[in-house]
Amino acid sequence: MSQTDAAALYVILLGPPGAGKGTQAVQTAAATGLLHLSTGDMFREHLRNGTDLGNLAKTYMDRGELVPDDVTISMLLERIARSDAQAGCLFDGFPRTVEQAQALDDALSAQDDEIAVTVLIDVSNDEITRRLGGRVSCADCGSVFHNIFNPPDESSPCCDNVNMIQRDDDKPEAIANRLQVYADQTEPLVAYYSNAGKLSTVNGEQPPAAVGDDLLEALQAVSS
Ligand code: ADP
Ligand code: ADP
Ligand code: ZN
Repeated sequence: MSQTDAAALYVILLGPPGAGKGTQAVQTAAATGLLHLSTGDMFREHLRNGTDLGNLAKTYMDRGELVPDDVTISMLLERIARSDAQAGCLFDGFPRTVEQAQALDDALSAQDDEIAVTVLIDVSNDEITRRLGGRVSCADCGSVFHNIFNPPDESSPCCDNVNMIQRDDDKPEAIANRLQVYADQTEPLVAYYSNAGKLSTVNGEQPPAAVGDDLLEALQAVSS
């Protein structure tokens, strides 16, 4: 094992849609230097670029369903094989099925690495509905805000109110379906990582900075 491999830190942020994974991943990546990898962001970028993968993903995303495992896994494995991911990364929104988790474990063990910890951001369904219902993002830079909990900055030249858009899958019909999909397909990962001795849970119903502090503590426990 090379020195780079020994230092690699692979961390998963797990939690229902709207738990705050993206918000925390951006902060934690800035604080630790870890690469932030969001499969949702990757699919949305493909869609903006008009690729076949983007158009395929959209048909699932709009309904609040998961993009099939085979395409999701191959996109993610291709991404983590690149040089900028060799020091590790922070997974946001992946894995979402046991099959994806197994594929990730296999790929990392093939390079003598492994997941260091999976941090579950624990938030109730009522709070999730409030968070997703008010989620908006900047059409220019993609920064995520909330109409009430984290309003856009009126003085910013980029992220002002006029620039805010709502995701198609944050409309009420899609939200209900996504919560069901989470319960059916993604929640089994809590037991998967807990059985592997790799689960740490943080209370997601605190202000973002307090969630971030708990998250950093969980990372420090495995990286020291
Ligand atoms: P959220 O922030 O609400 O959790 P994401 O941006 O992570 O949503 O994902 C948006 C959508 O992209 C999902 O509802 C799903 O359709 C698709 N998607 C993202 N990641 C995955 C994945 N790992 N497996 C399958 N589908 C995914
Ligand atoms: P996820 O990536 O898990 O889907 P996001 O990070 O996009 O979640 O957060 C969902 C919404 O909730 C966003 O509008 C975000 O601004 C807001 N949010 C995130 N963390 C918190 C928090 N700790 N308290 C209140 N609102 C939050
Ligand atoms: Zn912006």
